[in-house]
Amino acid sequence: MSEFAFTPPGISSVAIADESERFPVRRIFCVGRNYAAHAREMGRDPDREPPFFFTKPADTVVDSGAVVPYPPQTKNFHYEIELVVGIGKGGAEIPTDKALDHVWGYGVGIDLTRRDLQLDAREKGRPWDWGKAFDLSAPCAPLRRASSIGHPGSGRIWLAVNGVVKQNADLKDLIWSVPDIVAILSQSMTLQPGDLIMTGTPAGVGAIVPGDIVTGGIEGLGDIDITISERVGNVA
Ligand code: MN
Repeated sequence: MSEFAFTPPGISSVAIADESERFPVRRIFCVGRNYAAHAREMGRDPDREPPFFFTKPADTVVDSGAVVPYPPQTKNFHYEIELVVGIGKGGAEIPTDKALDHVWGYGVGIDLTRRDLQLDAREKGRPWDWGKAFDLSAPCAPLRRASSIGHPGSGRIWLAVNGVVKQNADLKDLIWSVPDIVAILSQSMTLQPGDLIMTGTPAGVGAIVPGDIVTGGIEGLGDIDITISERVGNVA
């Protein structure tokens, strides 16, 4: 049996509400522009083009309550509150009417974004990774099992910075529903247990700076909070 040249990294994971076990994260898929008002604020028409996706590495997840240092290479660091879907049963070419059978549970996440780098990449036709897939860019609150809470199709989704509400919408405003997203994503990728899907953010995105306390939540799913600290250099 072969051995590794050095100790491999641990498995990234997200907490599970009211349980000691954690949800092991395999990949993180993110949906771009899935609320009409947010598409408009980003200068795009919400004309129900097929959804598009980008990814974050699994090890970008951090628990709610984390202190997140201001990331490097940006002057426009943004929050995006999102419904997070955890996949429990893998599959390819999943029909929409079977899609919810593949969902393990749901949580609240924040798609942290270096907006200046993302928009620069968008304008130049370059990948979004540097704007989206950086260290600690996927804070995620404890997941809740669909077997306990069902499949939320509506409910308030909100985010506040230092107690001031910035995003305030409803899950029913999603352009592409969770079954749609799972079905469409599974046309391109074989979904696997442990995959997370960040389903897109409503309108009201904006900048955060060191010292800010970011809170958010989704009705029926719980809350999330993170604190932004000063940038830390040379931390490897
Ligand atoms: Mn997003």
